Amino acid sequence: MKMKVTLLAGDGIGPEVTREAKQVLESVGQLNGHSFEFVEMPIGGVAIRQHGSPLPAQTLEAALDSDAVLLGAVGGNEFNSLPADKRPEAGLLQLRQALGGYANLRPSVAYSALSDTSPLRPEVTDGADILFVRELLGGLYFAHPRSWDREGGVGLNTMRYTRDEVVRVARIAFHLAQKRRKKVTSVDKANVLEVSQLWRSTVTEVAAQYPDVALDHQYVDACAMHLMNTPRNFDVVLTENLFGDILSDEAAVITGSLGMLPSATIGGKVNLYEPVHGSAPDIAGTGKANPLGAILTAAMLLRHSANLEQDAVAVETAVGRVLARGLRTADLARTRGLNQQIVTTREMGRAVFEELNEIIDRRQALHAV
Ligand code: NAD
Repeated sequence: MKMKVTLLAGDGIGPEVTREAKQVLESVGQLNGHSFEFVEMPIGGVAIRQHGSPLPAQTLEAALDSDAVLLGAVGGNEFNSLPADKRPEAGLLQLRQALGGYANLRPSVAYSALSDTSPLRPEVTDGADILFVRELLGGLYFAHPRSWDREGGVGLNTMRYTRDEVVRVARIAFHLAQKRRKKVTSVDKANVLEVSQLWRSTVTEVAAQYPDVALDHQYVDACAMHLMNTPRNFDVVLTENLFGDILSDEAAVITGSLGMLPSATIGGKVNLYEPVHGSAPDIAGTGKANPLGAILTAAMLLRHSANLEQDAVAVETAVGRVLARGLRTADLARTRGLNQQIVTTREMGRAVFEELNEIIDRRQALHAV
């Protein structure tokens, strides 16, 4: 199998973490006889410096012409005074829209080796493994009318969904739940909002096509509380754009660090894979960036674009093993407990790479027997 991946490293720690993710994909490719061809293009601040635009035409063209896009992060303090549509972040928003993905997948997994980095108690987080499926192209962030009447003192946004928009993202959530623990929690505010009543009735309708998946509905305010009290009770959480934005950030607490979180946006012309964190200018160039979010993002690419589930699991297992060995980038450092070794971005990437090679070697040896 041959895959063309457009690599958009971007700004700040983007190039540092995507370098490690790329190494993992290359390693999977070499060990398994797949081939990942990387086309590296500028986006964000680096693209503004080189081409005067945060999303140059040739970058967009390459992205649209590939099998998957792997992105680092964009943004930097030197661009903060530019108008919003000229800033590095505008390039990413334009890219997301052009690729057309409407389902944003954000896993939130509590690695047992990191139970002491989360502010929640280990007995609450241990074993938690949640997949958020957030609708990404509709709702309050995109619908019209929207306005800010400064003189009149009125701001307006609209939460609007069509039945078709709900059906397509719900199908993805149920489909993914079938491969997991077969439970979907749909989150809305149907006790107050008509748009949520449409959401709830449409999701219920879609659920009928997936009799092997259990569906429950929660109001968003109650869900925010249950996520912290009983995160283990959740499998797939399906929700609209704004609720998903807020709840997935809240659930990030169970993982212990922003640097651990991967994401994928699927359903459009080309899938987009990016760690959840930003360009972290405060630590760029110091070797402190945690590359695990980007490496776990590469695992999502293997799962959702390359259809290499076994290799995706191998990458996730390798990450679990390096954490269990006590390796920590600075963001994961514990204030108590002794069994830890603080490592750089490169050292962490290398450790995952070595574990991964061992896992795949062993798997191949078993197959050969
Ligand atoms: P950020 O995610 O870059 O950083 C927030 C905090 O988390 C910082 O203290 C940072 O050091 C830390 N952090 C982030 N990723 C880390 C990692 N992998 N390892 C260790 N520590 C990590 O968010 P911010 O500071 O609000 O934004 C910085 C810039 O990034 C801004 O220009 C912002 O617009 C941009 N941004 C981009 C994206 C994206 O490209 N998807 C997302 C969020 C923010």
